Amino acid sequence: LAKDAGKNNYSIYRAAKSSLGIEQLTLESSIRKALQNNEFLLHYQPQIDVETGRIIGTEALIRWNHPTLGLISPAKFIPIAEETGLIVPIGEWVIRTACLQNMEWIAKGIPPMKVSVNLSTRQFLKRDLVETVQSILLETGLDPKYLELEITESMTMDVNFAIEVLGEFKKLGIPICIDDFGTGYSNLYYMKLFSIDRLKIDQSFIRDIMTDSIDADIVSTIIAMAYNLGIDVIAEGVETEEQLNYLKRLRCREVQGYYYYKPLPAEQLEQLLLSSR
Ligand code: C2E
Ligand code: MG
Ligand code: MG
Ligand code: MG
Repeated sequence: LAKDAGKNNYSIYRAAKSSLGIEQLTLESSIRKALQNNEFLLHYQPQIDVETGRIIGTEALIRWNHPTLGLISPAKFIPIAEETGLIVPIGEWVIRTACLQNMEWIAKGIPPMKVSVNLSTRQFLKRDLVETVQSILLETGLDPKYLELEITESMTMDVNFAIEVLGEFKKLGIPICIDDFGTGYSNLYYMKLFSIDRLKIDQSFIRDIMTDSIDADIVSTIIAMAYNLGIDVIAEGVETEEQLNYLKRLRCREVQGYYYYKPLPAEQLEQLLLSSR
């Protein structure tokens, strides 16, 4: 089969199969070049303790600074990077860059905090992920407790594999967060089994929390059950004061969203952190 005949043949095979193929191949080769030419960068979105209003962590979010098109959002290229496997070297770059940045902030006297990095399925399923993360931590000197890895529920479908990999991260002292929680099939019992440290409630539930009583009930249940199991909760996509107050009433302690900050360039966040020290 074309699939087994080597990378190039496989690409041509794919191109012939879909009318979008050629466009996709162009995008694939520009993503490859972008990595070589250092066109990727990370923005950092603050995570807030609702009690104090202080920044307690950040999430690293990738952008592509394209030479002619400008900043491109991850939604536009992560799926193709995932499909082509380019997400593996890109993902490694993201982990290394986030760790280096976090070390730099700590060295500048900013109180140490976690940086969260999104993993893709392809990355999570690679046998050497744990080793890669471990060597990046050694190389950068970052304390493992200041790097959080975000996975999604769908990555834990193979329960035994998830238990094994997540157990290894646990042993290394690296916190794990389930991103977009509530959109998949997993239940909270499994979250305990996987020794998940934190759940990030998907933004779709927060968006309608004031108007959709089912969404409000789901959020309320997740928060109550997670705390009973000793798992932290953060709400994502908080845009209004009403949403924030509602979440506070449900005893949600951590939020992330435009109400406080959009994802910021590293220098801008640094200024903010230095001035609020
Ligand atoms: P995510 O991990 O769920 O990240 C949250 C997304 O929601 C970010 O979009 C963020 O800018 C956006 N957001 C945050 N607060 C609000 C809000 O209050 N309102 C609204 N409407 N949106 C908000 P972004 O940066 O475009 O990233 C989109 C997705 O791309 C991410 O979703 C994540 O799945 C993926 N992604 C981003 N960076 C990486 C990366 O380095 N590696 C991988 N594998 N995926 C990444
Ligand atoms: Mg995320
Ligand atoms: Mg995500
Ligand atoms: Mg999310």
